[in-house]
Amino acid sequence: MVSEYYTQKDDAVYATSNGVPYSAHPLGAQTAGPGGPLLLQDFNLIDDLSHFDQERIPERVVHAKGGGAHGYFELTDSLSDLTYARPFQTVGYKCPVSIRFSTVGGERGTPDTLRDPRGYSIKFKTDIGNMDWVFNNTPVFFIRDPNKFAKFIHTQKRDPSTHLNQNMDSTMTWDYYTLNPECLHQITYMFGPRGTPKTWAGMHGYSGHTFKFVKEDGSFNYIQLHVLADDGFPTLSIEEANELAGAAPEYHIKDLYDRIAEKKFPTYSVYVQTMSPEQAENFRFSINDLTKVWPHKEFPLRKFGKIVLDKNPENYHAEIEQLAFSPAHLVPGLEPSNDPVLQSRLYSYSDTHRHRLGTNYQQLPVNRPRTFEKGSGCPFLAGNLQRDGPAVFDNQGSRPNYLSSLQPINAVSSNPKEYSNGLGTTERAKYIGVVTKKETDKYTVLQSERAKRAHDEKIWLNSYDYISGFSELDVEQPRALYQKVFNDEQRKYFVEAVVGHASTITKSYIKERLALLFGVMDEDLGKTLANRLEVKFEKLNAEEYANKVGISPAN
Ligand code: NDP
Repeated sequence: MVSEYYTQKDDAVYATSNGVPYSAHPLGAQTAGPGGPLLLQDFNLIDDLSHFDQERIPERVVHAKGGGAHGYFELTDSLSDLTYARPFQTVGYKCPVSIRFSTVGGERGTPDTLRDPRGYSIKFKTDIGNMDWVFNNTPVFFIRDPNKFAKFIHTQKRDPSTHLNQNMDSTMTWDYYTLNPECLHQITYMFGPRGTPKTWAGMHGYSGHTFKFVKEDGSFNYIQLHVLADDGFPTLSIEEANELAGAAPEYHIKDLYDRIAEKKFPTYSVYVQTMSPEQAENFRFSINDLTKVWPHKEFPLRKFGKIVLDKNPENYHAEIEQLAFSPAHLVPGLEPSNDPVLQSRLYSYSDTHRHRLGTNYQQLPVNRPRTFEKGSGCPFLAGNLQRDGPAVFDNQGSRPNYLSSLQPINAVSSNPKEYSNGLGTTERAKYIGVVTKKETDKYTVLQSERAKRAHDEKIWLNSYDYISGFSELDVEQPRALYQKVFNDEQRKYFVEAVVGHASTITKSYIKERLALLFGVMDEDLGKTLANRLEVKFEKLNAEEYANKVGISPAN
């Protein structure tokens, strides 16, 4: 008899993992007779136990805790004057997106509302392949030297001895911040109200890094991308964020899910800032310096698209946890700059997914590019020469796994006309790898390569001084944020947030360094923090601070 407490039955028939319906009760176990023991031949039980043992994939080292949804991107204004990238040509162009928001430092179980930057990653399933924007909700970051990344992240995690995280003992965290003061802009942003966002539906995302929009003729502009929530950026008070961390650890996940379930779809507008190569050579800051923004007044935002999130995942693990973003997943017409932190991320993200999900991570349904699907409506069917490895979903049938004459695979280079639809043609590229094509004018190629190289060198020279040093230039923007953008109430919030977090530092000299560093930015702020943390204070400039704490000033 069906109990009134049961809802309607699912269509599925209980089966073992090889798909054969199981004839006994799902919880049945085979024994060698009354009193056991259990039998090894009981695949229902053994396979279930074994699968359970392996049901966790390694959690992301960074950005472990997150949630997300699906939706679409639509081009509202053409960027054809800036780039030949196919998604940005024709107004009305639409493609599906999947998005994942996350905290940075915490593990998979940590509360959503703790102070942190937020990861903000968007997978665009365009009709010429996947383009990932692996952004944060802050326009700047802690580092500009890729070599610091792993070490910096260690200081956001647990103490190797006490196993306490920064919310119980922030000694390591502030030891790092005060010895690597180029993070000043990021921590000023993060200890401001935006460090505790109210909802992912009202949160902005920024490329932070500089990218390039490339035109048909190979010329380009540097760009910064901004995804601004249409409802603004509401934030939580310190008390609300702390209370929710205990009472509702999944607050942001639930909030996003409920909004979409109630059809109150979050919407965002997409903007670009552009800078010509000449402007970049003369820019006050290095365009490769991830601790700086491009001032709005000099480089105004230009709107070009919108994103709507209108679909919740049906299965969190398959559709959100297994989402695998990489800044290296780009479409032709959008290219990375030579920012060293971006360059290192181009490698590192794909590498971590190979570890976390396996070498075929791009074949998982949520990641699978539409171009690999027959009959997808994309302008071409994708294929390549990668084969085998764990968890293959599509091993590309009988297609040879080398460049064969038996069943030759097409290549853009062999038929540029057919594939020119949004893809870079060899006409434009002029050369493939280092081998110039026979018919190309090698001298012209050499000249344009030299001009490009001369520009790259100027950009590099501009960034060289700032990588490891600390100068007044590093203080200008955080100072503008604290003194001009924050209002009185937000400055009060800032002091409370820093004091609350820093009160667990166990070494008073680190507390002292903290007050000195913020004092470089704003003297009154430094004094207030020194007072509250009960340490002494003196007003220093950036160079004096660098000398005092024993790091190199910028030259
Ligand atoms: P403006 O003085 O023209 O405007 C300040 C910008 O700061 C706003 O447009 C807004 O950008 C952002 N903002 C507003 N309130 C807050 C807040 N409570 N916490 C953090 N950011 C806030 O900007 P400038 O370009 O001249 O830059 C001044 C300072 O503003 C910078 O030094 C930087 O710290 C900060 N900022 C600048 C951004 C940029 O891309 N130029 C982006 C974000 C912050 P938004 O609409 O993107 O939220």
